[in-house]
Amino acid sequence: MGKLRFLLALWLAKLSVPALKITRHNGTDFPGSLAVKLCPDFLRYVGKPGTIVTVTGTNGKTTTSNMIGDILESSGRRILSNRAGSNMLSGVATALLQHCDLLGRMKNCDAAVLEIDERSSPFIYRHLTPDLLVVTNLYRDSIKRNGHSAFIYDKIAQSLPAGTTLLLNGNDAISGLLGEGVNQRIFFSVDRTERSTDVCPNIACDITACPRCGHMLTFDYFHFHHIGAPRCPHCGFAMPESSFVARDVDFDAETFTLARKDGESLRLPFPTGDLFNVFNVTAAAAACLYLGVSGEDVTRAVSRLTAKTGRFEAAHAGDLDIVTMLSKNQNPISSSQSLAYLGHVAGPKDVVLLLTDSKDAVHGHEDISWLYDTDFDVLKDESVGKVFLGGTRCYDLALRLILAGVPEDKLRLYPDYGQLEKDLPGQLEGRGTTAIFFELYAMPIAQRLRQTLEAHFGNKKEEANA
Ligand SMILES: [Zn+2]
Repeated sequence: MGKLRFLLALWLAKLSVPALKITRHNGTDFPGSLAVKLCPDFLRYVGKPGTIVTVTGTNGKTTTSNMIGDILESSGRRILSNRAGSNMLSGVATALLQHCDLLGRMKNCDAAVLEIDERSSPFIYRHLTPDLLVVTNLYRDSIKRNGHSAFIYDKIAQSLPAGTTLLLNGNDAISGLLGEGVNQRIFFSVDRTERSTDVCPNIACDITACPRCGHMLTFDYFHFHHIGAPRCPHCGFAMPESSFVARDVDFDAETFTLARKDGESLRLPFPTGDLFNVFNVTAAAAACLYLGVSGEDVTRAVSRLTAKTGRFEAAHAGDLDIVTMLSKNQNPISSSQSLAYLGHVAGPKDVVLLLTDSKDAVHGHEDISWLYDTDFDVLKDESVGKVFLGGTRCYDLALRLILAGVPEDKLRLYPDYGQLEKDLPGQLEGRGTTAIFFELYAMPIAQRLRQTLEAHFGNKKEEANA
């Protein structure tokens, strides 16, 4: 009966795919959501490729899973992924069913690379056992969705299939504890860099007490937040040795050495956006090396990929450098790390913050506590000129910045994005850098602002030259 129900769900879900294409709704996860509605055990029956890699964690899971998919593909493997859809049960079901025949057998595919929402772990791993699960990190995230990093840790820990090998962050004493004594575990980490600090450089530090004995942890160094080299002087707790270690990070050349416990070292580039990306590239390269991709193939693929992350873009208009950078809403770690980039930009800069929920009217929330976990200190620097705050919650953000010590006369408040777009070119001098930080849903607004500035200052330059 179960199998028959599965087939019925599969056929109806498959029928919906061309229908969605005709109505231009392709790319959604409707087929998978229909399939699991009709057959809750759909993932149990649907065909799967020989290798399954899943990627989860608070930050970097999209970049890392896309990179793993691209490296595997460029090494000649045929892969499927859920990058076009969602990272929840329905998105995973959609990705798998589209590669199955009418009897639910997987066709022409060697590996699945699936990004998994942390909270969806229990629903997915019930019927799907990854060969490799990559956990990028665990931090505090949106309180409304994710509660606390320990809550998310439990969600993952309680649903881990014992047969899965874990690739874990050896600098993270939260996610790095997953699967201990149950799963086979390998670690990746990033060694001390020239930017490492002896004390936590951020407001948010999600683990300060030893997970074994509860005494205060000491850190040999911090990269950011609680990511570093934790050690307990009381019981001797330390993170296990890493098989893949990023060393000699060169921030100017944007390269680092990936040292392998078993194998030759690789010199790899990383995309602009700083240390976060060293972690993403290290995790992706380590996953692919573990899966048998050669060092040469990994190096070649990573070199080709680093340009196209989409989260960071730089453009020029006349004498103005325009930088746009994703900075996830409700996620103080993502926002702090994006803003930290400003500290490494030379010369005068103006800043546009489109951080508060641009869809507030649709799925609004009243929680602004994350703004107080985010590091805005970089905006106090003398090199920062005007700070434009866009969106209906700009008043909340303004108060936060004033309390952080950002001079009030630097702030320009624009609850209405249209007005900001109209006024912005006239408010800038057209020199130095204008950095636009945007939350996910504000991406179209950020792009419009960039185009407006390009048109305004680009044309101005041409007029001056004429
Ligand atoms: Zn201890």
